[in-house]
Amino acid sequence: MKLHTKIIIGLLSGAFVGIVANAFATGPSKETAEPIVRWLGTNIAGPVGQIFLRMLLMTIVPLVFSSLTLGVAGLGDIRKIGRVGVRTIAYFLVSTAISATIGLILVNLVKPGAGLDAGIREQLMTTYRSQAQGLQAGGGGKFGVDLFVNIVPRNPIQAAASLDMLGIIFFSLVFGAALTLLPPDKTKPILRVLDALGEAVVKIIEFAMKLAPFGVFGLIFVVTSRFGFALLVPLGKYVSVVLLGLLLHAAISISALVRVLGGLSPRVFYGRIRASIITAFSTSSSNATLPTNITVAERELKIPPHIAGFVLPLGSTMCMNGTALFEGVTVLFLAQVYGVPLSLGTQIIVIILSVITAVGAAGVPGGSLPLLMGVIAIVGVDPAAIAIIIGVDRILDMSRTTLNVVGDMSAAVYVARTESDWDPRSVTAGDRLSVAA
Ligand code: ASP
Repeated sequence: MKLHTKIIIGLLSGAFVGIVANAFATGPSKETAEPIVRWLGTNIAGPVGQIFLRMLLMTIVPLVFSSLTLGVAGLGDIRKIGRVGVRTIAYFLVSTAISATIGLILVNLVKPGAGLDAGIREQLMTTYRSQAQGLQAGGGGKFGVDLFVNIVPRNPIQAAASLDMLGIIFFSLVFGAALTLLPPDKTKPILRVLDALGEAVVKIIEFAMKLAPFGVFGLIFVVTSRFGFALLVPLGKYVSVVLLGLLLHAAISISALVRVLGGLSPRVFYGRIRASIITAFSTSSSNATLPTNITVAERELKIPPHIAGFVLPLGSTMCMNGTALFEGVTVLFLAQVYGVPLSLGTQIIVIILSVITAVGAAGVPGGSLPLLMGVIAIVGVDPAAIAIIIGVDRILDMSRTTLNVVGDMSAAVYVARTESDWDPRSVTAGDRLSVAA
């Protein structure tokens, strides 16, 4: 059986077993079932999932450093780097803004917050208040000029050690650009070392992907077995608006961008990036998906390594289509819940802030929540109101991360088409998948 089929089986069966376990843990024989389900999650499924996740995460620092440095150095001269950089970031911003706008239109049409019962609202606030306060204590609610200053790391080793992605990215970009200014005989040895480092990392990712069916099972089991499905009833409209928005953006806008700007059929595009989609969905982390994404871009879409190595690491932190949509919808939803009217002007500001905070959010599970609290506060709603949606956030996080990763990949397609000799016709639906195959 092919590995990607096994991964899909892992995903579906993990979800199914988790939902059944959840039904037992919240059902009539709750007293006996709940501790067993918790034990299984903590001692079996959780650790298996975490090992898979860590195998991916441990490659991030060497991968981002080697692929970005090589990507920048591979672009050659500094003017070209500037042009590709501007093109890449422009795509990130435009696609993210389109996504946030779709979310805002939907939330205005459906108004999911208008009918939320005040009793349920207070109950959710009480249940999740401490989690919301934890987010706030961890830096939520403030964002400003520091967000930009902090991109420049004081110390690249410290940035790497604390997995400060923007810091690592910034250092690697400057390092790669500096290499292009040195004579080739000086830089050749280091480029060869980085190349070998990158290849070794890809091997590690191959090992990790062998674990994926079990890891994905474990990660999904833990989520579904602990998820408050009961919350989906009162928050159903809100959850549906987010999911529908994500779906529309993927099916319409990203597909159009891939076809028009990338010259690639959306069907082929989505068919070949399955491994990235499943990894993003099960890990809820753009960072953890980056290694898979780079391998998929190079092998499945045949995107030149210097383009994939440049666009995707940047995208994993800076391009979050799904997150911006989620943020826009959530801010408006909470404003509706509290009856705070938001003018068109304020809504446009929400779109801009959603794009900016999506750029600044960390590509980790729940990475956008602290910054989202800042946006909520700006529109005049208590940031602690985020407590209302925390209980359903994981499902939304899995889904928005998937779109974040799909957005990154579409950016790579666009930049490859315009900045390299990549030919979209070289990618066909019929070829066997080689990542996770
Ligand atoms: N989990 C998301 C990601 O990694 C970030 C977020 O929206 O919380 O892409």
